Amino acid sequence: MSGLALDFPAIETARRRLDGVAHRTPVLTSSTADGLTGARLYFKCENFQRMGAFKFRGAYNAVARLDPAQRAAGVVAYSSGNHAQAIALACRRLGSHAVIVMPRDAPRGKLAATRDYGGEVVLYDRYREDREAIGRRLATQRGLTLIPPYDHPDIMAGQGTAACELIEQAGPLDVLLAPLGGGGLLSGCAVAARALCPRCTVIGVEPEAGDDGRQSLRAGRIVHIETPDTIADGAQTQHLGQHTFPVIQAHVRAIVTVSDAQLVAAMAFCAERMKIVIEPTGALAVAAAFGGGLDIRGQRVGIIVSGGNIDRERYAALLAGISREGTPLRSTGADGE
Ligand SMILES: *Cc1c(COP(=O)(O)O)cnc(C)c1O
Repeated sequence: MSGLALDFPAIETARRRLDGVAHRTPVLTSSTADGLTGARLYFKCENFQRMGAFKFRGAYNAVARLDPAQRAAGVVAYSSGNHAQAIALACRRLGSHAVIVMPRDAPRGKLAATRDYGGEVVLYDRYREDREAIGRRLATQRGLTLIPPYDHPDIMAGQGTAACELIEQAGPLDVLLAPLGGGGLLSGCAVAARALCPRCTVIGVEPEAGDDGRQSLRAGRIVHIETPDTIADGAQTQHLGQHTFPVIQAHVRAIVTVSDAQLVAAMAFCAERMKIVIEPTGALAVAAAFGGGLDIRGQRVGIIVSGGNIDRERYAALLAGISREGTPLRSTGADGE
């Protein structure tokens, strides 16, 4: 054993659990995108996953792993959005109860969806309160099992199944680009890629304003930052995890960053050319393929399009912002501007 929190057999086990439960999402190609980048791009469209993001994979895997007593008592999770919906939906499917700690200013669509999936929402102020402390307190008081959004071996294993499918669908890859928040997705995908196409270079993509992952790789330790100001609300994490960081150190070649303007441009490309709605965080890897300073010409490149959950008004505003004045809008929803 490597001593890391995740190995490939755990991802294969997660795949069997998710079989027939999670969607096997499509892999799209675009000759326009290939022409612009000089590469062959394979877009793994997790915006079409259940609840609209890859997070269902990890959440279902983690809840399915609980013993019957834990499942009966229920689960608590803290999340700015997609993990919340994923846990709520997984709990409903598996007959458990989900308590979700969410920021008061989370996108409305995400709050509503979490409640629609049967989750009990507990609101907090993310500038003044510590969600992890709230989660731990609820766990103790109510006997709930805390399932964190990324720093958990079962979460990481579930997220890795997205890359397994992509490689199966697209064939061997030279490069795999995946968004990076807390590192559940990237660590899982990196372990899967290492096992299934060992020569594939795995690269994480972060928002420019929150490059703690890149700093951490450079420093050789987990670097903590303030909550970054970016439209990529699913990647506003302040640090990588104790479990995710060592896996990323072992299997990820580099971490690159993209600006909010690049995210909006990537969202617009996906809308106009590929006819898919993606959220800003879901656009991270797409934006990196178009302008992340990477030399991918002539390569077979897998791109994890991680999610598509965004309020209609906000989506329209972001896309209108770029076409009206050619510059991106500043972050709004998450900051309550
Ligand atoms: C959570 C999330 C991410 C980041 O995933 P991590 O496992 O935290 O790195 C990326 N994209 C979307 C759409 C997400 O919901």
